[in-house]
Amino acid sequence: MRVFGEHFWSVSQRIHIFHFVVDCPLYENIRVKFFDKVIDLCPNFRYMDTSSKFVWLFTNEHEQVLKKLGSFIEECFLLRGHN
Ligand SMILES: [Zn+2]
Repeated sequence: MRVFGEHFWSVSQRIHIFHFVVDCPLYENIRVKFFDKVIDLCPNFRYMDTSSKFVWLFTNEHEQVLKKLGSFIEECFLLRGHN
């Protein structure tokens, strides 16, 4: 849970990252595809609420999930760059 420690992310950073990863409507289409891939790897992800999804994504140790999280963030940055 180190990423949630106060010395790693500030409160405003956590709010910003939460919005970006699980909430921002700008990335909804990319997020739906990303979440579908995560559900393939971890079926219970489907039943988590938004806060639990966020915590799970940043605390899990599944290499495939972490790679997909990285690709999702990269795709969001690319989309943002084109706007
Ligand atoms: Zn937004």
